[in-house]
Amino acid sequence: MSPSTITFRARSYFSKEVKVSPEALSALIDVQLKLPSHVTLVVTRGLEEISPCFRILHRVRRRLGALLFCFLYPKRKNEVPQIFGSNGHDVCGDHIDIDVLVDGRRITLLPLGVFTPLTLLRKRHKQYQKELALVYSELEKGGFTIHRNETEAAQIHCDFERHQ
Ligand SMILES: [Zn+2]
Repeated sequence: MSPSTITFRARSYFSKEVKVSPEALSALIDVQLKLPSHVTLVVTRGLEEISPCFRILHRVRRRLGALLFCFLYPKRKNEVPQIFGSNGHDVCGDHIDIDVLVDGRRITLLPLGVFTPLTLLRKRHKQYQKELALVYSELEKGGFTIHRNETEAAQIHCDFERHQ
């Protein structure tokens, strides 16, 4: 893989495309250029324009997911709106999710998706602490705000902040 590339790979069940606003894309390119060549960004989710019939299916899927999450993690019920909310993906292409590749290998912080226990997430995070800290730091310097929820931050949900 050549250095300083940004890859797009749809991770959503409902969208095969990853749509990013030109402003966020431009900022992402700047971030990628500041990262060492063995660290590559992969944009997995952006704006999702879901057709009306899929929207209902999407809502049902989210509700079922939220129910399962509450069943598995009753103490984390307060995180449900953050994890199962749209987080702006239905608004515009300034809200994106990013995977990170280190030497071409994807860092998998959430092997069980949003159902990954925090202990496992933190253990995996520790393995790539240096690279992830660098990515988070460069994204923030580049105008992105990383989601405050630990699970969302692990799938690197970030919002491009437009400054007037
Ligand atoms: Zn997201």
